[in-house]
Amino acid sequence: MAVLEIVTVPHPVLRRKAEPIRDEEFGPELERLAHDMIETMRAAPGVGLAAPQVNISKRLIVVEYEDEEEGIPHQLYAVANPRIVRVSPRRVWGVEGCLSIPGMLGEVERAYAITVVGRTPLGQPLRLDLEGWVARIFQHEIDHLNGILFTDRARRVWRASEEEEALTAV
Ligand SMILES: [Zn+2]
Repeated sequence: MAVLEIVTVPHPVLRRKAEPIRDEEFGPELERLAHDMIETMRAAPGVGLAAPQVNISKRLIVVEYEDEEEGIPHQLYAVANPRIVRVSPRRVWGVEGCLSIPGMLGEVERAYAITVVGRTPLGQPLRLDLEGWVARIFQHEIDHLNGILFTDRARRVWRASEEEEALTAV
């Protein structure tokens, strides 16, 4: 496994619409890329990463989250071609950061709950009902696949303290 280089703004790959993973691309090689992205996310450290953030313009994301205090167990996802098929009417504001926009935080409104469909890197179909922070991370990562950054959606953006940044980087 390898830690990949994370690109930052204004790298143009971050503004490109990423390519769908084609049927013949599913398999061990795509799984290896997902593992490298997980290593990269953990090394950053962050709670999510999209392939364009490592300069690969493909529709692949990884998300890892847990919150012992809130009783949310450890969850790790690698999803190819993720697509949001349901959003809750309830929307919530929350503070986000981004590994590709170091040092900045912003307040972003997201759907509280979503359903995402996609496939694992080996090609198994996935359907995920997500809520709260995990749903927010998925929306942030799927935005990356469409060339959208959290600063496009934020109502307020500010410079983070290091402590704040570690909690929110995606
Ligand atoms: Zn990001």
